[in-house]
Amino acid sequence: MSLIVNEPYDDSGHEDPGHPERPDRSTAAMAAVTDLHLGSDLIIATTRAATRAELIRVHNGNYLDELGAFCYGGGGDIDQDTYATLDSWSIAVLAAGGGIAVIEELQRRSEGVGFVVARPPGHHALADRAMGFCLLNNVAIAAAGLLTQGERVLIVDWDVHHGNGTEQIFWDEPNVLYVSTHQWPLFPGSGSASEVGGRHAIGRNVNIPLPPGATGDVILRALNEIASPIIEDFDPTWVLVSAGFDAHRADPMAEFQLTSGDFALAASWVAGFVPRPGRLSLFLEGGYDLDALRSSICATLSSLLGRNQDCEDPSNGGPGMDRIVRIQDARHAAIDMLHQADKEDDQ
Ligand SMILES: [Zn+2]
Repeated sequence: MSLIVNEPYDDSGHEDPGHPERPDRSTAAMAAVTDLHLGSDLIIATTRAATRAELIRVHNGNYLDELGAFCYGGGGDIDQDTYATLDSWSIAVLAAGGGIAVIEELQRRSEGVGFVVARPPGHHALADRAMGFCLLNNVAIAAAGLLTQGERVLIVDWDVHHGNGTEQIFWDEPNVLYVSTHQWPLFPGSGSASEVGGRHAIGRNVNIPLPPGATGDVILRALNEIASPIIEDFDPTWVLVSAGFDAHRADPMAEFQLTSGDFALAASWVAGFVPRPGRLSLFLEGGYDLDALRSSICATLSSLLGRNQDCEDPSNGGPGMDRIVRIQDARHAAIDMLHQADKEDDQ
């Protein structure tokens, strides 16, 4: 099976000295691809900038204008966590365009797995606001493009943080199913199990908040018990992954205890929902320990490509198993309430 990766672009201008979201991250991600020794099975999709028409499916026009102007004015701090530089606009549109380019290449081939090395990352970016190191919501922009083609898109977000931007953008969209595992409490503070989607998309938002210290066995069991039946029922035609690797035990940003072997297992779980060859693409989100990032990407991709690559043993024994039933209960209660409100409106 082929791996389709977006053509590397110069992202060195999107940097704030000392900030963890740094150019070394994309270098580490590409090193992981090299570690796979794919030869002619590695396909590079020519990168292009996302167009305004593609961005505006997800982001508000005023926000795009303001972000562009802010960057071209020299940039600076957007909030406590998020920066932009003179070059950030042109780099961010290449990240978003890289995602679209990879999907287009997958569609041409009807084969392979996509991996988008995207900097800056995207899943915290809201329709009208940058947030959490993210400027443009790369995975949402790709999904929105697929929606215009009549697809039904599953987005699995295994970054350790809740993808509040993606949740907000598709809150009331019945043709997107968003599934997120994340540590709670943690930035950005959202991601409760009772956030189940808007009234046109009841149940299409699946949050799985788990405690600090959670290990791979907890996350896999939660995905299997909570998300698997919902995904089967949704029956996606495309599968996108917000693939952050900051849930790794070595990552400095959070306290999940995953290993590279856990990411390989999560990847193989996701692969079970891909309806046809060439309908799966991963988007790099977080991951701030460079060695963990490299080994976790390598394990994830080798699992998807059916290659044998050494990786760390899966982790187990951490807290959170008891949360699975509580998450289910909170979801069901929220869904019942929305249906009840709908009924009352109809009367
Ligand atoms: Zn993250």
